Amino acid sequence: MVLTAFEETLFRKIASAAEKLEVPAYAIGGFVRDKILSRKTKDIDIVCVGDGIALAHEVASLFKPKPKVNFFKNYGTAQIKLPEIELEFVGARKESYERGSRNPNVETGTLEDDQNRRDFTINAMAISLNQQDFGALLDPFDGLLDIKDKIIRTPLAPAQTFSDDPLRMMRAIRFATQLQFHIEVSCFESIKAQADRINIISKERIADELNKIMMAPKPSVGLDLLFRSGLLAKFLPQLTALAGTEYVDNKGHKDNFYHTIQVVDNIAPHTNNLWLRWAALLHDIGKAPTKKFEPGHGWTFHGHEVISGRLVPKVFAQLKLPLHDPMQYVKKIIELHHRPVSLTKENITDSAIRRLLFDAGDDIDDLMTLCEADITSKNKEKVVRYLENFEMVRERLKEVEEKDRIRNWQPPISGEEIMETFGLSPSREVGNIKTAIREAILDGIIPNEYEAARNYMIEVAEKLSIRRF
Ligand code: ATP
Repeated sequence: MVLTAFEETLFRKIASAAEKLEVPAYAIGGFVRDKILSRKTKDIDIVCVGDGIALAHEVASLFKPKPKVNFFKNYGTAQIKLPEIELEFVGARKESYERGSRNPNVETGTLEDDQNRRDFTINAMAISLNQQDFGALLDPFDGLLDIKDKIIRTPLAPAQTFSDDPLRMMRAIRFATQLQFHIEVSCFESIKAQADRINIISKERIADELNKIMMAPKPSVGLDLLFRSGLLAKFLPQLTALAGTEYVDNKGHKDNFYHTIQVVDNIAPHTNNLWLRWAALLHDIGKAPTKKFEPGHGWTFHGHEVISGRLVPKVFAQLKLPLHDPMQYVKKIIELHHRPVSLTKENITDSAIRRLLFDAGDDIDDLMTLCEADITSKNKEKVVRYLENFEMVRERLKEVEEKDRIRNWQPPISGEEIMETFGLSPSREVGNIKTAIREAILDGIIPNEYEAARNYMIEVAEKLSIRRF
């Protein structure tokens, strides 16, 4: 294995510490895989046939200044954070599983035992850090060949591997997505057969893998595999409910699941914001409950954006995703996702544009990005035309924003001023006056200025028979 100068120096240090303690040591797992694939890694797992914590201390003593060793006695693991990279140490182990849990019974083992317990052949390779064969690649399951052939395969029988730890089903799909590899047929069949077992995995772990799939350059690869394996229906049934087409009177509608995953792919090159990608994933989930066939008209999904938005808190709760800001953001973007479409018609008034700016606030650009990604027509001319329409909307938004500064805008009259002027205590009347002023500005009835707003406030109050204090 060809090592960089940095790796050579680092691994020689580990090798000399390992020799001193007389424990064979190896770099293993993700680091080896990513090195072969020329991917960046943030940590290196070191496994030794012996005490991992003792080895970590010995390695640390070879650095000046000596780095801190964080260790967890119960797990037999230790960690050293170097400026360039993190090192994780553990003793080689042998695992056996019980059916109800993904947490194995662990015993100390040999390097071979440790490689046997790894999830995929590409994750089971090790580099020797021992004097006699320093730098040799130890690859008992032909992981190197699988990397060359772009294959995800389990070292042992897939049925056993996935049944032991069903999280591996998600990991298989995640690696297939990140690396653009194929899952070997018998492996995928085994995932399909055991999809039910995902139920013993915590929602947090499922969401963690799902988020990694969502952040890949082409998330549809994983989303499609999750769907076809039967896994997605177990934890995101609202999304699989979109799959399929139905025909009545020879009229069909598009498959909204495949449309959705295309939208996620479309948005991926334009944003690394996980939650905007989530907005793309959930933007149409309201289409299943709102779907109707209207004779003489065809399929409709009236109000689906509102229903999609309403379903967001439920989906976030069911996957234990963060319920505060990200959820509110996703909900808002989804609820608004048809508004820019209605602004692509001709003769759009400034007030309609101002309203959208006011409602979307700082999320307006993200909203436009979603709308553009939502175009999945196969007709290239249509795509160009729709994109041009949105470009026009973007220009109008910019113009109106420059003129009226509505983004992050607060009306010039506060509730306090209304209360003081009319001697009111906090009440519905105050809210009514405030709303009337805001609406008048958004509708362009009065300019966005203090004097005009104050005069309008007095006018409104008079109409409501509220006297000045
Ligand atoms: P990434 O860093 O992208 O998540 P990784 O493969 O480095 O990928 P880790 O979760 O850090 O992921 O795991 C390190 C190694 O531990 C893996 O390469 C694999 O050998 C092993 N491993 C991790 N999770 C499992 C599992 N559920 N079953 C079996 N082996 C696993």
